[in-house]
Amino acid sequence: MVLQVFNTMSGVEEEFKPISGNRVNIFVCGPTVYDYSHIGHARTYVAYDVIVRYLRFKGYSTFYLMNITDVDDKIIERSKERNTPPLTLSEEYTREFYCDIAMLNISSINLFAKASEHIPEMIDQITRLLEGGYAYKVDGDVYFDISKFRDYGRLSHQNPDELKKHRIEPDPRKRNPGDFSLWKSRSRDELGWESPWGWGRPGWHIEDTAITETYFGPQYDIHGGAIELVFPHHEAEIAQAESVSSKRPMVKYWIHTGMVNVRGQKMSKSLGNFVTIRDVLRKYSPNVLRFFFISSHYRSPIDYSEANLENAHESLRRVVKAHAEAASALRDARSAEDRNDLEFSKVTAESRRRFMEAMDDDFNTPVALSVMLSFSRRLEAYAHLRPAKRTLQEGLSVLRDFASILGIDLSEARVEQPEITDALIELIVELRDEARKRRDWATADKIRERLASLKISLEDEPEGTRWQMKV
Ligand SMILES: [Zn+2]
Repeated sequence: MVLQVFNTMSGVEEEFKPISGNRVNIFVCGPTVYDYSHIGHARTYVAYDVIVRYLRFKGYSTFYLMNITDVDDKIIERSKERNTPPLTLSEEYTREFYCDIAMLNISSINLFAKASEHIPEMIDQITRLLEGGYAYKVDGDVYFDISKFRDYGRLSHQNPDELKKHRIEPDPRKRNPGDFSLWKSRSRDELGWESPWGWGRPGWHIEDTAITETYFGPQYDIHGGAIELVFPHHEAEIAQAESVSSKRPMVKYWIHTGMVNVRGQKMSKSLGNFVTIRDVLRKYSPNVLRFFFISSHYRSPIDYSEANLENAHESLRRVVKAHAEAASALRDARSAEDRNDLEFSKVTAESRRRFMEAMDDDFNTPVALSVMLSFSRRLEAYAHLRPAKRTLQEGLSVLRDFASILGIDLSEARVEQPEITDALIELIVELRDEARKRRDWATADKIRERLASLKISLEDEPEGTRWQMKV
């Protein structure tokens, strides 16, 4: 079967064929590390983790590179508020990000490349853009001249003449309002590096193209990121990379993930509905969160709500239970096979075919998941029928393949862990109720405060205390 991939550049599904043989180079925009990652990031990273797992399953030798933006205005602002050096702050959040990634069972990334460790490569690329006449200096700043790149707007399907007028980074010295920064001059007491244009730091877009050129050269197979990065970020990347190398396309397939809404609204700090990965993982296991994400297609917007996570949890429980029962039925399985077993073998083969067909159709995980769910029901039913060992093993191994492509852990412990958390909170609430009955207000208040700091709020009502996790 041939993998079809939706390419943002062409706006249609295309047959996937790597640039060079069996090798796939994929780059995905990583986080700007000035805060904890939110579930929008998590959705994106889980999506590419599944995509890379599937590419490897299909036999592509895949190198997955992700950058870490640890030099950025937002980081510098935050570091001033906190009175911490910017690189100390970004290092702290880089560690938190690695931790989130590991918790989400994202294990497919080969290399993380930090912007701060690739400054010479960025300076070199900017120098070549200046030499080629694609960029210009104004005092210590360097801008990309978008009128020099004919295809500006091609990815976001916008008119280049309109984009020239589209004002970003207001600076009256720019040639076109839409020109973007390659190098920002800064005073010497600020975070910066020495460059041919004086002390300063790189613009955001040049970080990615300097990093991808270093590891992949001028052209590579897949570039990923959230849909809101298409303009101006990815458009700017194309302009830089193709101008500097005169090779096009810089990227063969552009793959973008959809947005995450929270209870029907766009997630934003000002609306107060900002949900971090940590918030969710206090209540649900990473497995449940992954299951929730992949129950939508990676390009569709998804709506985060407790009800949707509960549904994911329920479905996941069924798969885990089916897997556990099938595994334990292996012990008493027969060695002879009869017609029943042959029937089930056909179900296994057909389910496998339908799962792969869904994944080949632009990584259609919701369809793949539904195949996995119905197959696990059939497997469980078969396991109860005095199954044949070889047939059962075959079924189990197909279910395990599905789970490993989707990055789902089928061991029960990881699914049921939040149940233990719930039980522990209930125990603490019970102990507090007993303290209140003894009129031990000091202990009761202490427990309430400590739980509040963990975002667990308590409400004392006549019939008892109710607790709630603030997500
Ligand atoms: Zn990027």
